[in-house]
Amino acid sequence: MKAHYRGTLITALIGDITLQDADGLVNAANSRLAGGGGVDGAIHARGGPAIMRELDIIRARQGGCPAGQAVITGGGKLAARYVIHTVGPVYGGRPSDPEQLAACYLISLRLAHGHGLRTLAIPSISTGAYRYPIEAAAPVAIAAVLDALDTYPLAEVRFVLYSDRDYEIYRRLLAAEKRLKPQ
Ligand code: ADP
Repeated sequence: MKAHYRGTLITALIGDITLQDADGLVNAANSRLAGGGGVDGAIHARGGPAIMRELDIIRARQGGCPAGQAVITGGGKLAARYVIHTVGPVYGGRPSDPEQLAACYLISLRLAHGHGLRTLAIPSISTGAYRYPIEAAAPVAIAAVLDALDTYPLAEVRFVLYSDRDYEIYRRLLAAEKRLKPQ
């Protein structure tokens, strides 16, 4: 589906984020920046070892990356020029969970904007191995992205969902979101 928020095209689709031709991809990384399964594994597998080499340098400099923060690398062999590695919270039903999750999206858009990216593809952070229920995570994700766009506008934000069910949750929320204008 497509909608507009101010000057930004907001899209949601079902797909593999590693195949997106956006300027940047967001990766749901872990705090060791060490690569893992899920979307992280898929990005490293398709992007090649150059991404991990950059993360090795970042790790040597600053250790890992805490939940709610992000680091940026090149895209290696991906079509995307950049990958923004953000660390979502491991879901525990704590008040800090939605705060850290929202911070992931905010900082990802800040990095994207700061590096001159026009289009950014974003997966559903924390809702895989980190077990954040997607019904609870999706409204946080959408609100955080729209809030961030007020300060860090982009030409397009693309939510890339990995299942029909996840897509349907996003589609319904986006259709009901009063801040959006339908395409
Ligand atoms: P986390 O550890 O933050 O939960 P995961 O990668 O385990 O990260 O899962 C986050 C979401 O990404 C899940 O909804 C999962 O289905 C989805 N996902 C996994 N692989 C891909 C992919 N290649 N493209 C887009 N989304 C993906």
